[in-house]
Amino acid sequence: MAEIKCTVTNCYYNKRLGCTAPTITVDGRNADESRSTKCDTFIEQKPGMRSSVNEPKDNTPISCMAVKCVYNDDERCEATDIVINGKNAKEPEETSCSTFRT
Ligand code: SF4
Repeated sequence: MAEIKCTVTNCYYNKRLGCTAPTITVDGRNADESRSTKCDTFIEQKPGMRSSVNEPKDNTPISCMAVKCVYNDDERCEATDIVINGKNAKEPEETSCSTFRT
């Protein structure tokens, strides 16, 4: 579980650079570097769509397929906090986990 700082401010789940999703999934099974990862939970906030009413969490469970990352333990993220980047993303592929380390 980790606190998520997220610059993807146009994500449905983003509030004040925090994440309100109950859980997220980071993808990147073959990733050797940060830019090959992505937040699969991203949903683009469209005009007229009500944004998440929840508050950002500081202990979000993270499933993570980036098994080459040092923080990955059996497809779970064990980092205490992570940074997701992807300003103005339109799809998950335009986001990435900047905390990824090999
Ligand atoms: S992009 Fe992912 S980490 Fe960022 S707010 Fe959306 S669901 Fe949360």
